[in-house]
Amino acid sequence: MDYWSKQYIPTLKESPAEAEIESHKLLLRAGLVRKIGSGIYAFLPLGNKALENVKRLCCEEMDKAGAMELLMPAVVPAEYWQAGPRWNAAREIMYQVASAGEKAEFPEEPAFVLGPTHEEIITPLIGSEATSYREMGKTFYQVQTKFRNEIRPRYGLMRAREFIMKDGYSFDATDDEATATYKRMAGAYDKFFARCGLKFISVEADTGVMGGAFSHEFMVPAEVGDDDVVYNIESGYAANVEKATSGLVPADLEDAAPVGEIEKFDTPGVKTIEKLAKEPFNIPADQQYKTLLFVGDDKLFAVVVRGCDQVEEAKLGSLGYALIRPATVDEIFEAMGAYPGSLGAVKGTIANRDKLDGIYADEAIRLVGNGVTGANEKAKHLKNVNVSRDLDIDKFGDFRKVQAGEPCPVSGKPLEIQRAIEVGHIFKLGTKYSENSEYGAQYVDKDGNKQPAVMGCYGIGISRTLQSIIEQKHDKNGIVWPWAVAPYQVIITVLDPGMEEADTLAQKLGEAAKTAGASVLVDDREGRPGVKFKDADLIGIPLRVTIGGRGLKNGQVEMKWRDQDEMQKVDIADAESVLV
Ligand code: ATP
Ligand code: MG
Ligand code: MG
Ligand code: MG
Repeated sequence: MDYWSKQYIPTLKESPAEAEIESHKLLLRAGLVRKIGSGIYAFLPLGNKALENVKRLCCEEMDKAGAMELLMPAVVPAEYWQAGPRWNAAREIMYQVASAGEKAEFPEEPAFVLGPTHEEIITPLIGSEATSYREMGKTFYQVQTKFRNEIRPRYGLMRAREFIMKDGYSFDATDDEATATYKRMAGAYDKFFARCGLKFISVEADTGVMGGAFSHEFMVPAEVGDDDVVYNIESGYAANVEKATSGLVPADLEDAAPVGEIEKFDTPGVKTIEKLAKEPFNIPADQQYKTLLFVGDDKLFAVVVRGCDQVEEAKLGSLGYALIRPATVDEIFEAMGAYPGSLGAVKGTIANRDKLDGIYADEAIRLVGNGVTGANEKAKHLKNVNVSRDLDIDKFGDFRKVQAGEPCPVSGKPLEIQRAIEVGHIFKLGTKYSENSEYGAQYVDKDGNKQPAVMGCYGIGISRTLQSIIEQKHDKNGIVWPWAVAPYQVIITVLDPGMEEADTLAQKLGEAAKTAGASVLVDDREGRPGVKFKDADLIGIPLRVTIGGRGLKNGQVEMKWRDQDEMQKVDIADAESVLV
């Protein structure tokens, strides 16, 4: 039982200007978090309690599903990532750390990175020792601080640069066993999000830069989300728009073919994405699409390239196909979801945008008009490379995104569309990470043959989930916590603190609630009742018990559930039993 006067709950009357959406305002106003830097937050005691509750619910469901908790380092030697399949695609989103003693001049290759996710670490960690088929069939998870250098952190904990994630990883001997594990984890996710009191749906998702066989996202419907999901209730089909769209654009691109001789030409005044040009993507040819970008004043110009291993090859004219069109940053994010593997590269490139200057939209438009592939060398562009014979920029103008009303691929009935927040994401990875000879995970099967483990990975944004709960569960007065997540479940508001009878009763009722398993906050502060009620509503405690002088005289206390309008007067003698 905690006393408000001894706690630190700095509630705010007004919401700070930094907050745009309700849940972000309430995180600040209820004294749950404070901003330390862009996308970087401190959890104050009340926020930490709620966060811990979300974490605990998650761990409980993971444990029930047979996963084992471990803890990996957040600072990771860069070599793990360099050896893995997506170093170049993912490095822009990683905070890169020099080794102690390294000069201020940052080395070309960092000694360490701060982990944005941990496939590259856990695969060799488990793979180096679990070398028999008997040791397969294991799932591990951790709850850890993750770091991503998001270019546009926003909405508080929703898109932060440092955030709390539960990340899990499974290792199975066979594809069927991996599918069974994946389904078990999906079931655990359903239970976890339900226990958080969330309305959510799981949708088919793109595998993106993570790669792998298939994937689902867990989505909380909300207008402030960054994703769109399409669904049809009757057929049960639900997918991220990116996923629903994928397959459409590549088919269109089949028509694209190289034209003309390849020729370099100077484009003075146009700076280019040097880094992108220098570095190979290391994404296998044929399966992947690449994107080169122009960055304009307020526009990005994408060149989507199919079937080349690295940008270096683009210079040599070995591109498969290319498509050029102007697009806004958001459009690029959305559209690139249609190109397996390219999303990470694109996001990485855009992450670098802040470091670029002086790339002009009008110049890029001119280049697009000339049928030029892109910025692949400083102040140089390629002419006549692989632009579709009859590339009709307008035709690709909207990247053919699935729209509401289009037929559901299962039932043919019209699809509905809904904006949503991605709170969890699971992937059946297959052997993408385990295949690596040095940093992979291979086991010896019953017949003595070496086989790569069939892996899955399972992420939950714990801190994003916390804020999503607030986004979904609030009213004009504040947060309306679900019981299981509430930082305190019962608040006892003492209107006349210092009055012995009131204080004694508060303690007694508090103990009763505690014995019944509830966590209790006693508001023992001096102050007007109105202020205390407002605060109690703002911080969203599910049950409020009010002890006031007048009620005491009548032998009564007031009880009010946060999610109900009516307040009940309850005889003191009965109050204890209500709480129990
Ligand atoms: P998003 O599409 O929102 O950028 P993501 O697909 O990059 O997320 P994953 O790599 O799938 O994220 O990570 C697993 C989970 O971690 C996500 O489902 C989300 O809940 C959470 N998460 C990812 N990035 C952030 C972030 N910047 N801030 C808070 N939570 C995040
Ligand atoms: Mg992301
Ligand atoms: Mg995503
Ligand atoms: Mg995801």
